[in-house]
Amino acid sequence: MERDSLEMDVVFVGAGPANLSGAFHLARLVREHNEGITAGTRQGKSLGEIEIAVIEKGSSVGSHILSGAVMDPRALQELMPDFAAQGAPIDTPVVEDEFVYLTKNSHIKAPITPPPLKNHDYLIVSLNRLVAWLGEKCEAAGVNIFPEFPGAHLLYDENDCVTGVRTGDKGIDHHGKRKANYEPGVDLMAKVTVLGEGSRGSLTKELSQRVNLNGGSEPQVYSLGVKEIWELPKGRFRAGRVTHTLGFPSDTKTYGGGWIYGMQNNVVSIGYVTGLDYRDPLIDPHAEFQLYKTHPFIKSILDGGKMIRYGAKTIASGGFHAMPQLFHDGVLLAGDCAGFLNSQRLKGIHTAIKSGMLAAETIFDALFARDYSSRQLSKYETHVKNSWIFPELMEVRNFHAGFSQGRWMGMVNAGLQTITGGRSWGLFDRTTTEPGHVALRQLKDYGYTSGDPAQRYGALKFDNKLTFNKLTDVYHAAVSHDEDQPSHLHVLDTNICATRCAEEYGNPCQRFCPAAVYEMADDPLTGRRELKINATNCVHCKTCDIMDPYQIINWVTPEGGGGPEYKGM
Ligand SMILES: Cc1cc2nc3c(=O)[nH]c(=O)nc-3n(C[C@H](O)[C@H](O)[C@H](O)COP(=O)(O)OP(=O)(O)OC[C@H]3O[C@@H](n4cnc5c(N)ncnc54)[C@H](O)[C@@H]3O)c2cc1C
Repeated sequence: MERDSLEMDVVFVGAGPANLSGAFHLARLVREHNEGITAGTRQGKSLGEIEIAVIEKGSSVGSHILSGAVMDPRALQELMPDFAAQGAPIDTPVVEDEFVYLTKNSHIKAPITPPPLKNHDYLIVSLNRLVAWLGEKCEAAGVNIFPEFPGAHLLYDENDCVTGVRTGDKGIDHHGKRKANYEPGVDLMAKVTVLGEGSRGSLTKELSQRVNLNGGSEPQVYSLGVKEIWELPKGRFRAGRVTHTLGFPSDTKTYGGGWIYGMQNNVVSIGYVTGLDYRDPLIDPHAEFQLYKTHPFIKSILDGGKMIRYGAKTIASGGFHAMPQLFHDGVLLAGDCAGFLNSQRLKGIHTAIKSGMLAAETIFDALFARDYSSRQLSKYETHVKNSWIFPELMEVRNFHAGFSQGRWMGMVNAGLQTITGGRSWGLFDRTTTEPGHVALRQLKDYGYTSGDPAQRYGALKFDNKLTFNKLTDVYHAAVSHDEDQPSHLHVLDTNICATRCAEEYGNPCQRFCPAAVYEMADDPLTGRRELKINATNCVHCKTCDIMDPYQIINWVTPEGGGGPEYKGM
């Protein structure tokens, strides 16, 4: 097969805050250096023209970006001190914080907001708008941006050094045959490739398995954030108000919490995070969120309002102990795919931006040294350790592990680590966490007789006003994929579904997927119960790849441009 090959110097995979900041910062470092040489204010040689590319699987920069989002502006200030003057689309500064504990029918407002949840002077943003703006800044700085270009495979030399990325083919039908619009993917060759794919990146997973990047760390644990945007009656929830909740509807053994962020024009971002290390096989994170909205405290906020958008995405919650090695020959990892998120604060935008900048500084030095080996690129880890990211993540390193022993122990641990700077005296440390597919227990362990969710969510009804079923919600994520393409959800052994999985777990894929992608249905031809994959519904959250108890679901990138459209979320 004939493929084009393009020589770049640096390729960033994924146009999220991490990589766009990295690409922008690198382009600026190179420009400032070269200008300094020309002006005689710097010594050394000009680096010449450095070709930088960012590829993105979404239809445009920002279309697959989903977040809360309250942003700690620290890193953006470092990247662009005059970001406000440069037109950064900030929705509103935080003016009011509250932390509310929800019991089944009532609520208790904490007299003071716990320090990690204080957000005063932080900024509420629509992250996809911010990212689209960063993309424009990158283009103005000379970075090549390629939307609709999914990174399908990494390219390696004979020594497993990463030499670039192959983008996905276009125009292949569901039988794997070429259609009239067939276009082979392109090989983008690079001295350094930066993976900034976000949570559970597919190339990051491939690379980690191939060169064992996780050898020295704990397995990553994830959470799933399910979110809606609502328009509320005027004056109901003021712009700049930030509410975090704990308690209902999560049971005390399951990690979970909610948020409501007030934005301009009477719009709120509301969502619920469920730890994907839950044990009850009937848990359905989308249903948890729907139940959340029925609580009297939340319902009173949403009453009379209208849901306008929906989205779901996983969050890498394992923190410091679960961070993989951040470099290998020819490649660096930045942002969520490297586990930079601070899960106690539910904040990863600032650490993603900062990690992208540190990756850029590492690459800048490597360009001078003309050395792209692990030896040179390992300086990235030193930069991270010397930056403010390290103390921030160290202090909360045992936060998620604390919750593996239940909500109360988790809260005690969170309180203690705030006072002691993260010490937990071995009580709540990394060894207590299990990855999602291991944590998930079988039906029999919970005394369930089948996978019928009514055994857990009997009271939950979808009334299409306050609560919505998955299909209605998915409609509001504006998902679209070309239907005639190979499924991007590879289930390696479907024989297990109607037999072993049905018996042991009651086919949990039907519940953990927040977009109704997986469905057990009777095949009209064979009469057998089989797994039906509605791949076109997929919102690219990656939950299935994480939670499948047999680890036989492999999420790979679909044809470029397919997926959710989160503009305005
Ligand atoms: C529901 C939710 C709420 C959150 N709330 C907050 C908050 O209030 N404050 C905060 O600071 N943080 C919050 N976060 C975390 C924050 O959004 C992330 O930490 C941050 O977005 C990480 O940035 P990133 O650049 O690493 O990855 P992402 O933002 O995930 O961007 C990755 C990009 O890479 C693209 N991509 C992935 N794989 C490929 C591929 N193979 N080829 C091409 N493109 C690819 C994706 O389409 C995406 O555009 C929240 C996250 C979620 C899910």
